[in-house]
Amino acid sequence: MSVNIPFINEFSQLPEACFSRVLPTPVSQPTLVAFNHLLADSLGISSEHDAGLAAVFSGNQVPANADPLAMAYSGHQFGHLNPQLGDGRAILLGDVRDNRNQLRDIQLKGSGRTPYSRNGDGRSPLGPAMREYLLCEAMHALGVPTTRALALVTTGDTVYRERREPGAVFTRVAASHIRVGTFQYLALRRDEESLRALADHTLARHFPDISPESESRYLELFTEIVRQQAELIARWMLLGFIHGVMNTDNMTVSGETIDYGPCAFMDNFSRSKVFSSIDQQGRYAYQNQPAIGQWNLARLAEALLGLFPGDEDDAVAAATQVLNDYSQWHQQAWESGMSEKLGLGTTAEQDRQLAEDLLTLLEQGRIDYSHFFHALAQCTEQDADRTPLFLLIDPAIPGDATRQQLEEWLNRWQDEVSNRTSPETAAQKMRSVNPAVIPRNHRIAEAINAGEQGDFSVFYALADALRSPYQEHPEFSKGPRSGEEVLRTFCGT
Ligand code: AMP
Ligand code: MG
Repeated sequence: MSVNIPFINEFSQLPEACFSRVLPTPVSQPTLVAFNHLLADSLGISSEHDAGLAAVFSGNQVPANADPLAMAYSGHQFGHLNPQLGDGRAILLGDVRDNRNQLRDIQLKGSGRTPYSRNGDGRSPLGPAMREYLLCEAMHALGVPTTRALALVTTGDTVYRERREPGAVFTRVAASHIRVGTFQYLALRRDEESLRALADHTLARHFPDISPESESRYLELFTEIVRQQAELIARWMLLGFIHGVMNTDNMTVSGETIDYGPCAFMDNFSRSKVFSSIDQQGRYAYQNQPAIGQWNLARLAEALLGLFPGDEDDAVAAATQVLNDYSQWHQQAWESGMSEKLGLGTTAEQDRQLAEDLLTLLEQGRIDYSHFFHALAQCTEQDADRTPLFLLIDPAIPGDATRQQLEEWLNRWQDEVSNRTSPETAAQKMRSVNPAVIPRNHRIAEAINAGEQGDFSVFYALADALRSPYQEHPEFSKGPRSGEEVLRTFCGT
């Protein structure tokens, strides 16, 4: 065997209700497009040559010691419960321990049908696989908890969607693939034994600091999941990221971002921005994300309620308290992140208003969100040239009211900077948290178009720039020109 993966397979020790064993379906002509050697090293994966990697990460060769399975889960999709989802086009090869002794899942996506495929073909087109690769690695480089990209292989087979597309298998690494929907699945079946086993596994795997002897351990588990999601979604908001499909089956209990389907980083700022072509009602619009996170966690509370201490009333009261705390945790994380983005260091009471007023101005001026924060770092000195910021205001907006209001806002902000820190310290801080380059939709689209023609040079160059998002990459930092904007993103399943 030319690829060695030190599988442990702890998830497959759970009760059989949690999954179905299934093998990947072979593909015609596996070709390795990308392989994340650094990540592979951290997982103890060793390989001799690319052909071996292509064979394993297309599903054509199942490595020794793998215990492949499809995970079962339910999910509220756009608010409606679907009791029977599960990995319909993904197969968990198994889990390994990384070099920090953490369990990590290795999962193939697009590897063929499973018992949960319903009417789907179990396959993935190349475009969405490239998108997920770029986005999750960019998120990681931006310091946001996320699943990772290990490998991308083209299959040599055609996938039929609205058009014929080249097929691919994407290999994802996650702290785990346990979702809110995984708990919902067992709770809906009233399978308390499996539910408890899954909760114990989650505790040991993600929250080893919670004592397995504690009577309130499942409530503590819920509390920690809620706290991590509150912080995760704050990170998204601070980066202008829109997940796009925050269904309960796309929300992890590990605190990692998962399932990069119709997601996007915003160009021009708008609180009500929606990208997903399937989100007709705007349920998952940018500004709704914190509240949707809370709604999803309430569904998790319902699934776990029977495990909480006390009678049902006690359990409901305790869960409600945690869900209320969510808002506060989220707010705190967002406020401290905003104070950093504005170079102000520690959070002060007036920062929230300062930030909200700025967002209103960005919206009014149709200003590029990431560009603005990045360019703002040049303006911490009182006598700085503000022209680059004013040039970000959409020239199609009549009058110069926005410019004047921005001028006033900048005066206010500079006063804060000079009262609380020095212009140099502020600028330095700002450059470390406001990225110079983000994965913009029009650049991703460009990389995919070339990739579909067999040219991956654009993909490699973009992936490379996104690995160091706080450094200048002038060729990748520009926003879309008129006509280049991608207004809708597609699930691509
Ligand atoms: P997602 O949109 O990725 O969150 O997927 C929602 C559900 O649809 C999950 O249960 C997927 O496994 C399933 N699914 C998506 N695409 C396919 C496909 N091509 N074949 C089979 N199942 C799929
Ligand atoms: Mg999903």
